[in-house]
Amino acid sequence: MIEVTDLQREFKSGEEVIQVLKHVQLSISTGEFVAIMGPSGSGKSTLLQLLGGLDTPTKGEVRMNDIALHELSEKERTLFRRRNIGFIFQNYQLLPMLTVAENIAFPLDADNVPQVEIKSRVNRLLKAVDLEGKGDMFPSVLSGGQQQRIAIARALSNQPRLILGDEPTGNLDRKTGTTILNLLSKMHREEKQTIVMVTHDIFAAGYADRVIMLKDGKIEAEIEREEANKDELMASFLAELN
Ligand code: ATP
Ligand code: MG
Repeated sequence: MIEVTDLQREFKSGEEVIQVLKHVQLSISTGEFVAIMGPSGSGKSTLLQLLGGLDTPTKGEVRMNDIALHELSEKERTLFRRRNIGFIFQNYQLLPMLTVAENIAFPLDADNVPQVEIKSRVNRLLKAVDLEGKGDMFPSVLSGGQQQRIAIARALSNQPRLILGDEPTGNLDRKTGTTILNLLSKMHREEKQTIVMVTHDIFAAGYADRVIMLKDGKIEAEIEREEANKDELMASFLAELN
């Protein structure tokens, strides 16, 4: 589904050029659940933004189902994102002046989906994230876990093939975070969505089929769930990275 080839991203800071991603090669299959871990500043969010076409590489490319994202115009890329990708962020990024239902419907309104269809989809999503009856409330009166569930419902509203999460459980306590992870995991199993999730949390990473360790802009290691001694391996990688 996603093919990343020799991906490089540089940022200019005054005279200095910072190489944030260095020759990243990565292949993600349809239906895979991948976690990206690594120290702060290693380029995780930058990589996720490139995977989602929110940013363009300095060199190299991201292909999604054989479409090279950087070859699309800004407008085509926006449309592509809207149709194919759902984003979930650490700080939810809900729109405070819109109700819960309006937040979930937001990507659909932008895509001119008929109102009847929007209504039924929003109701289904509210049920899926266990927030039935909260559609008319404003996000600010809800808890962090509830707000993140709205963000997930919004990310799913366009029935995306790919879900990208940047520390979706980063602001939540373990119990609430587990609810969110179980929800993502359920979507992944039932809807066969591909998920790529950045996380600092080894517990959250345990939900993934594969964990990618990013260090200093490079993929340092990859671990498949099948590996029997995954926990041990993870512990040693983390010790090395930190
Ligand atoms: P964290 O775990 O703290 O979220 P991260 O692994 O997500 O870190 P990134 O946000 O990808 O790290 O940032 C990697 C590096 O790229 C950092 O040094 C950051 O300062 C730099 N960087 C990211 N975006 C920009 C930008 N738009 N302009 C300049 N530098 C940037
Ligand atoms: Mg980040």
